[in-house]
Amino acid sequence: MKMAAETETGKGEVEWEVKIPEKKLKDRLFFENLKAMVIDTQMCSRCLTCVSICPSELIVNEEDIVDFPNYEDKCLDCGACVRVCPRYDYKPKSGLGDYIEFTAGQSKRFKGQDGAMGTEFIFSAIDMGLIDRGLFVDRDEQWRTSVFHVRGKEQLEKLPLGGTKYVFADILPELKKAVMFSKVGVGVVGTPCMVSGVRKLQEEYPVFREKVKLVIGLFCTENFHYNEVSKYLIEKGVDFSKLIKTDIMKGKFVATMTDKEVKFKVSQLTSILPSGCNVCTDFTAVESDVSVGSVGSVAGF
Ligand SMILES: Cc1cc2nc3c(=O)[nH]c(=O)nc-3n(C[C@H](O)[C@H](O)[C@H](O)COP(=O)(O)OP(=O)(O)OC[C@H]3O[C@@H](n4cnc5c(N)ncnc54)[C@H](O)[C@@H]3O)c2cc1C
Repeated sequence: MKMAAETETGKGEVEWEVKIPEKKLKDRLFFENLKAMVIDTQMCSRCLTCVSICPSELIVNEEDIVDFPNYEDKCLDCGACVRVCPRYDYKPKSGLGDYIEFTAGQSKRFKGQDGAMGTEFIFSAIDMGLIDRGLFVDRDEQWRTSVFHVRGKEQLEKLPLGGTKYVFADILPELKKAVMFSKVGVGVVGTPCMVSGVRKLQEEYPVFREKVKLVIGLFCTENFHYNEVSKYLIEKGVDFSKLIKTDIMKGKFVATMTDKEVKFKVSQLTSILPSGCNVCTDFTAVESDVSVGSVGSVAGF
């Protein structure tokens, strides 16, 4: 299938390869298949790969539940959503995957959550000309996430881009835009479920294979929905206007503010742990090109 797309150079044509998958529930629409197998079974990781690829653009993330209002009438029944969903034919991943080297790293030029290697990899790839944009998770003053395209280090001087936000971010829908606008290549950083979503997109659509040049995975045990975690943190005494860093370290959630620290056992968050995280066993993002995390390294690396 060929699709008209607006790129930085004007209108262009992008080739999309769409294979029609087999339905598990025969005689039902593809979105109904996704809903029955992934959403209703609480397997959905909220990676939003389906949202990013639905050609009708009607799959939405409604209060952290993936939905398609009026899908009975509006689903095109093309199968794209089930094709790219990492949880549709879920084969849990674990361990380290194939690796070349482990190292404790620290950037000499950037500050970040730990060693700022997430930031360093993206900007090194830009400096090397491997990519011309990278996707970063930004936040507002209330720690709601948004996704930002970085193209040069000057942007870091104005934006608090480094650092971990323990809240889901809509990275995959933004990746589709980045792929459309990039002339050279795109780098993306995400949690393991998102990395799996990127790989699915690359398996299914040549444009993602060609354009996504660097996939950085973050070690991850869990992530949280904004409404739930922010309510919990406020009850614990966190003042978002003073919050500068959040961390999960040695089983404790640590919120560092300008004037104090709030610390509690992360197990206290079990009741708000998203169901999609509960079924996940991929701590290291085994499908990434490079994985970064703090576990196993001394502080600051
Ligand atoms: C939800 C979550 C859970 C994590 N759990 C663990 C863990 O259990 N053990 C462990 O060792 N490490 C964990 N990490 C990784 C760790 O917090 C650091 O991100 C990692 O060590 C890299 O640090 P850095 O200084 O190199 O990154 P930086 O240079 O500070 O860059 C941080 C990168 O993380 C991205 N990012 C920030 N928030 C999010 C988000 N919500 N979703 C996707 N990307 C985001 C930013 O875009 C940026 O690219 C987790 C990260 C996240 C987002």
